[in-house]
Amino acid sequence: MIKRWLLLLCCIAMLTFLFTGCASSIVEGESARISSMSLQSKEKSFPEEQIELNHTYKELESIWKSRIQSFLDRGIIPLIDLESHLKRKDGERYIESSLAVMDMEGIALIAFDTNQAKKDGFTKGYRWGYYSIELSNTYPDRFIPTTNGGINPNWGKQKGGRDRDYIDQLEKHVSNGTYAIMGELEFRHYWSSGECKMGRGRDVDIYLNSENGHRVFSLSEKTDIPFVIHMEPEDQPLVALEEMLTAYPGSKVIVAHFTQIRHPQMETHFNPQLVRHLLSKYPNLYYELSIGEPGRRYACTRNVDTYIWEKSMFGQKSVLDPEYKNILNEFSDRFVSGFDYGGGRPPLAAFLPNRAKNIRLITKDLTTQAKHNIGYRNAWRLLTGKEWN
Ligand SMILES: [Zn+2]
Repeated sequence: MIKRWLLLLCCIAMLTFLFTGCASSIVEGESARISSMSLQSKEKSFPEEQIELNHTYKELESIWKSRIQSFLDRGIIPLIDLESHLKRKDGERYIESSLAVMDMEGIALIAFDTNQAKKDGFTKGYRWGYYSIELSNTYPDRFIPTTNGGINPNWGKQKGGRDRDYIDQLEKHVSNGTYAIMGELEFRHYWSSGECKMGRGRDVDIYLNSENGHRVFSLSEKTDIPFVIHMEPEDQPLVALEEMLTAYPGSKVIVAHFTQIRHPQMETHFNPQLVRHLLSKYPNLYYELSIGEPGRRYACTRNVDTYIWEKSMFGQKSVLDPEYKNILNEFSDRFVSGFDYGGGRPPLAAFLPNRAKNIRLITKDLTTQAKHNIGYRNAWRLLTGKEWN
């Protein structure tokens, strides 16, 4: 009898907990849309359910085209960000308040790569997350279906060969046509400035020509889907980059953070001449421009870390180095915009204007054609396989 009473009390306690849990997420005061998204995620049974795209790519293309054109019609050169990251938690807090900022800053589309799903207590290995698909389904005119990023322990340890591994799941999801772009995969990555300040960080060193590197390049070649890599341009990785670009001429490689040099003693070969050589020889190579503002210093060394800007007596001027400026004009069909949003950054609505401003500063003195190419036309070609017209 006592046992039965105890059981009843337990049930009442659990129901009360569940009820107040749900109710509190409704009274947060956020808009209806973001409430329903956070509610969905809380109610979801884990492991995260597989979510399908609501639209075909033909439909998405037409939706994206209208949004891009709406900026052009107002005389604004739209920007497409192909290199940002969004945790579900940050999205639920910040997306809704960022929509008006995107409109104001001329930001047409963002490719947010996302993290793996929450731990569920029983899934072994990598837990593929579907937040990017949810975002695209909710805001098809703003967010590009982007894979989970290659920034997780399973990728870092170069695991592969089993269904539970990130690279195997990436191949499965990209091959079935769900995604328009593969989000940033870390190959060579120094500590970030934030990590330098904390005194601990991740130093990633995965060779581009490792087994998993070959799998990513091959996947891009087979599917025609572009991928973004983080690769500090050290001397050895640059040699491997040429080897891979040659081996997979049909792959579409976007190297993030153009001219970011944080340990120059290990990055002795990267200079305008080398960039010219690479862009002339490898038509499948693109560079992405989520880079520092003039004078930005890397926290680990206190040196300026973005070489695209012209040097001045005490740091850098707010104009492009003439050699890089010529490259951006001459090879303007090979650079794309990016903002590099991510965890630990300010709220998205506060972050976007500064990053859009930096892209506008980079393109300020370039030709009109280069401004359009870098703003959205090259991204359009990479995402759709078609020229913008
Ligand atoms: Zn990066």
